[in-house]
Amino acid sequence: MRHENDIRPDAEKDRGSEQDTRMRASTDRGLAMQIMDSLEQGVIVWSQDGICQMFNHRAVTLLEMQRSSLRTGTSMEEFLQQAYERGEFSSARLKENLELFALGRPFQFDFNLSSKRLLSTNVRPVRGGGHIMAMSDVTEEREALAALAIAEAEAEEAQRKATEVLEDERARQREVSLLSQMDEWLQSCKSLRELYEIVTAFMEKVLPGTRGQLFIYSNSRDVLDLACAWHCDDAPEHVTPDSCWALRRGRNYNFDSTGLSFVCDHVKESFGPDETPDMFTCLPIMAHGDTVGLIHIEFLEDGINPDVLDTKVFTKRCAEHISMAIANVKLRDELQDQSTRDPLTGLYNRRFFLNALRRELAQTASRQGNFALLSLDADKFKQFNDEHGHDAGDVVLEAIAHRMTELDVEGAVACRVGGEEFSVILPNADRTRATAMAEELRRAVAETRVDYIGGDLPKVTASIGVAVYPTHGTEPKDLIKQADVALYDAKKAGRDCWRLADGADLITFD
Ligand code: GH3
Ligand code: MG
Ligand code: MG
Repeated sequence: MRHENDIRPDAEKDRGSEQDTRMRASTDRGLAMQIMDSLEQGVIVWSQDGICQMFNHRAVTLLEMQRSSLRTGTSMEEFLQQAYERGEFSSARLKENLELFALGRPFQFDFNLSSKRLLSTNVRPVRGGGHIMAMSDVTEEREALAALAIAEAEAEEAQRKATEVLEDERARQREVSLLSQMDEWLQSCKSLRELYEIVTAFMEKVLPGTRGQLFIYSNSRDVLDLACAWHCDDAPEHVTPDSCWALRRGRNYNFDSTGLSFVCDHVKESFGPDETPDMFTCLPIMAHGDTVGLIHIEFLEDGINPDVLDTKVFTKRCAEHISMAIANVKLRDELQDQSTRDPLTGLYNRRFFLNALRRELAQTASRQGNFALLSLDADKFKQFNDEHGHDAGDVVLEAIAHRMTELDVEGAVACRVGGEEFSVILPNADRTRATAMAEELRRAVAETRVDYIGGDLPKVTASIGVAVYPTHGTEPKDLIKQADVALYDAKKAGRDCWRLADGADLITFD
């Protein structure tokens, strides 16, 4: 800078001015260096054409370089190339840095030093040309950030799992509640028929994505009869035990068309010749160690109950609960039977007979009708036993009992009241109908042929006494007594015949 009142010659004046400029520049540089050295960050100043103009000590320390490796005059390209070769960033990063630098744009990158420390670096263009590169050690911050990110991800995962567990638990509780509702209904069933109705209604509602059938062994145990079905109107009426893999193998059978498994024959019947269901399960129903039936369930694609976690698992649970309920009702029926039935013939026993007689009497009295009581006694049965053995006698008693159940009278109750003594209550029977039935029974017994150990036993006959309400009595004990008196009359008359209580003439039936 020249002053107007400077009177020195021009050349001298110019020399002085250059010195001034150099001194000022050196003072400015010294000041700039002092400022740069006081900074926490490492700083490198580059000229417009990418030559290092100055740098502070902190830059050398941070970059973990030999002091001699960074000099004023080093080119940005050389500096970055060396850092790339030390593996401090990728080749893509190197390329991008050089491009951005050439364009005079700001950019940002990291030095990943071999010591695992991380330098976050900002390169900014400065007014008048050139760039300032500032770097900070962010190793701890980045580690803390990474740790925070991991902690956040872990917390998120834990929360997701907890939500999942909670939802599973809620669904499980809903399933438990559905099952306990079903149990409550099933346990209050009075009969198997009622139980089947409940099973149908329940399965239709809680397993909309299934169609199914429940089969129970018939008394003969050679087939299973359809007890109920849901979402299914083409269920077979019967299935044979050998048509189901579950019954044949004695355990649950799961069919899946994608795996190696075979369709049960009873299932094939409901499908066309070339069709197969996608998936089904057959579950044997066990009651007190015995297989009493079969549940067959097909899984359809749509109609899933949102309250059920896994339809297949839940279905299996339902089947187990239904099995248990069937077992209980059957056991209850058996116990009931044991207390009301005669084990040899299956007819009702004396206790049941007395109750049934009282009931019939009350009902008939209220509608002022008739009913009859037949007392039947096998003839000369002691002799029969003596000649053919007690076991043969038992078989004959069973045959007589069977004849009694075949009488064509609605609501007839046949009972074994003693050894070879039986009674039948015939609702709505007057004396004509009662004596006709007595004759039919007498003849049926006399005509019965019993096969025993490979040969026919000799024929057995029976005598019958008939008493009719109200003619022969209006109290159970009177009717029983009158029927017995009539029976005694029949015995006296030579057996194999019937007598009416009041001793009316014998009506003959040809
Ligand atoms: P009646 O024609 O006068 O009735 O002669 P009965 O021999 O049938 O009469 P009785 O009362 O003398 O004998 C009844 C016989 O019935 C005696 C008994 O051995 C037989 N009996 C009773 N209960 C059973 C049974 O459960 N099984 C067999 N096999 N026989 C029985
Ligand atoms: Mg007798
Ligand atoms: Mg007898």
